[in-house]
Amino acid sequence: MILGALVVLAGVVWWLKLEPGPPKVEFAHLQEPIGRSATGEIVVRSTGRPGLRYVEVRLVANGQPTTLHSEEIPASPSVNERHIALNSDLSTTGVVEGPAKLEVVAGTYAWHLLGGERQSVASRDVTIDTTPPRVDLITTQNYMRLGGVALQLFHVTPDATDVTVKVDQYTFQAVRGFFADPTVGLALFAVPQDLTTAARPVLRAVDAAGNATEVELPVSIKGHQFPERQLQIDDAFLQRKVPEILSKSGKPVPADLVQGYLVVNRDVRKESEDRLDVITKNSADVPLWTGVFHRQTNAAPMSAFADRRSYIYKGETIDRQTHLGYDLASLKRAPVEATQAGVVQFAGYLGIYGDTVVIDHGLGIASLYGHLSSIGVKEGQKVQAGEIIGQTGETGLAGGDHLHFSILLRGVQVDPVEWWDPKWIREHLSDQLASLPAAKPATATASAPQPAPAPANGAAAQVADGQAHP
Ligand SMILES: [Zn+2]
Repeated sequence: MILGALVVLAGVVWWLKLEPGPPKVEFAHLQEPIGRSATGEIVVRSTGRPGLRYVEVRLVANGQPTTLHSEEIPASPSVNERHIALNSDLSTTGVVEGPAKLEVVAGTYAWHLLGGERQSVASRDVTIDTTPPRVDLITTQNYMRLGGVALQLFHVTPDATDVTVKVDQYTFQAVRGFFADPTVGLALFAVPQDLTTAARPVLRAVDAAGNATEVELPVSIKGHQFPERQLQIDDAFLQRKVPEILSKSGKPVPADLVQGYLVVNRDVRKESEDRLDVITKNSADVPLWTGVFHRQTNAAPMSAFADRRSYIYKGETIDRQTHLGYDLASLKRAPVEATQAGVVQFAGYLGIYGDTVVIDHGLGIASLYGHLSSIGVKEGQKVQAGEIIGQTGETGLAGGDHLHFSILLRGVQVDPVEWWDPKWIREHLSDQLASLPAAKPATATASAPQPAPAPANGAAAQVADGQAHP
């Protein structure tokens, strides 16, 4: 009887105060190699009922431990699982670069019959790299205008895994491998029309350890006054357009067509721009174009890039939006010409743009043709400069037959005027692309057709001006 009670008591004590094994450690997320800022998550769990008493995380490099995290945990309430977010700045700790061990030490409030605290040391071999990529600018000045584009050339060390230009909330991917010197990269970037001349583009190079170098780009940005325009909206237009666009965009058509119009002009417009971001995501790493971009033949501009538009219904302003692109009008159902050589990225219905074609020209540049009445190309198809890709029309949010034409850089709408200007193309793009020997044309892929072969002198081939255009 007494024996039985003792056994039960021992069982209860064992269950309450002892543990079957040491705490378990899990390296849940860990950015490796470990960079200047060590980031990751380590999970420590006690294996029995007694809670965790302390947890320490340290980095041992060259025999020298550096503590990244250390805490004593109160006995009550008992903690059986601890998630430790690693977020340590190693730049001031003097940690040596190279191979190291990440160690976790943990103990619990368990009783131990043989004395001494039970603790576990979990360790993991890691590499420490606290040196960020090195960047040296080649282009020493960029003259650009609000809504326009510039080309920055730079050297970057091969450890960089990602190189971008950041302009406020916008990110433009850089390209490497175009030039014979593999350390030379290029980045086309824009100062989009909704920013100001105070924008400061920054080139950012990041390595596998997350170490980043940021260099402010030398830019001189000229302001631009975008035109203000008023557009009259009447009931006939609402009846003709709102049900079509809403139903084709998978949205209900409300009885109040002015409300429906606002859904089109705000939500469908936003969705169309967001889809363009996705559509233009993958661009060839070489320019597929040669020289200046072609402007639709015999077409009069109805509105220029980035008009600030007010929409007037029965004398009242019901909405304001920025019109991104050019409206060009000629005859009804006029043939639409590809502005430059490239690969069709999209052919179909695209919200406010109606039936639309998007063509990739490489290096993140794409052109868009909206409101078409017919589409004559398929996605993935290669097109030549001036090739007929469809006919103008008034599908989508168009009041009459015209071509909506946009140029996009990495999905961001930019002013087409620069791309139609042979002098701008030559001075801002072609001369720079030809300033260093080009790499041998890379092996072609479906999304990156082979550029024209390089001339014998090794200069970039695809930069001659004023040819190939009807
Ligand atoms: Zn338009």
